[in-house]
Amino acid sequence: MTASRRMLVFWDIDGTLMSCGSDGTRALNRTFHELHGVEDAFRRAGIGNALDFTILSRIVAECGIEDFDREAFASRYVSNLERILAANKSKRVMPGVAGLLEYVRGRAGWENLLLTSNLRAGAEAKLRSVGLWSYFADVPYGGFGDAPGEKWDAAAAAVSAAAAFSDRPPAPCDCLVIGDGVYDIRCAKRIGARHIAVATGFTPAELLAAEAPEYLFADLADTARVIAAMNGAPA
Ligand SMILES: [Mg+2]
Repeated sequence: MTASRRMLVFWDIDGTLMSCGSDGTRALNRTFHELHGVEDAFRRAGIGNALDFTILSRIVAECGIEDFDREAFASRYVSNLERILAANKSKRVMPGVAGLLEYVRGRAGWENLLLTSNLRAGAEAKLRSVGLWSYFADVPYGGFGDAPGEKWDAAAAAVSAAAAFSDRPPAPCDCLVIGDGVYDIRCAKRIGARHIAVATGFTPAELLAAEAPEYLFADLADTARVIAAMNGAPA
């Protein structure tokens, strides 16, 4: 491996980079209530592991909303989310994350990218609220929940976009997915990426282990061990 080898490090947000409890769900519910009079909208979607686009579409269909304006919804959602996040005293960056983001930022050819089910604007609001947005603000590509499909579709689109920005198109083995969910592990396997699972979210370590991830950590606090994994050390 040369020092300039390209490496796309895809970070999940909720439960991986940070925790803000259920603020996203609260903002979604508040927005559906304000704009469409729907109570407890998230429950009506009946799904958890899905891109926000899909969750919104399910709620709209389930509630028979005919005048749904995605842009207007997203705008109100972000305003609500920002207010809810500002009031949340227990939101936090996960252990070890800041050092790992710095490591990737400082390494030639390596890039921090987002791979999240959040709408892009929601991702920005969440990361800004804990001071992590600067790691991603200047990156023109990433995987977000604004379009139809699954997380692996968003990942594949981000890899294509990354390829278009460079004369060195990334291969699947040049991609590393770091996430706290079964969905993240399946996503990584689906696109052929390397992956690190971390049990700092809602998913218990045993459930993650059952998916046979390449690496599994209780948290990312042991920076040296996680960096070794990032560089392909034996698990
Ligand atoms: Mg997550």
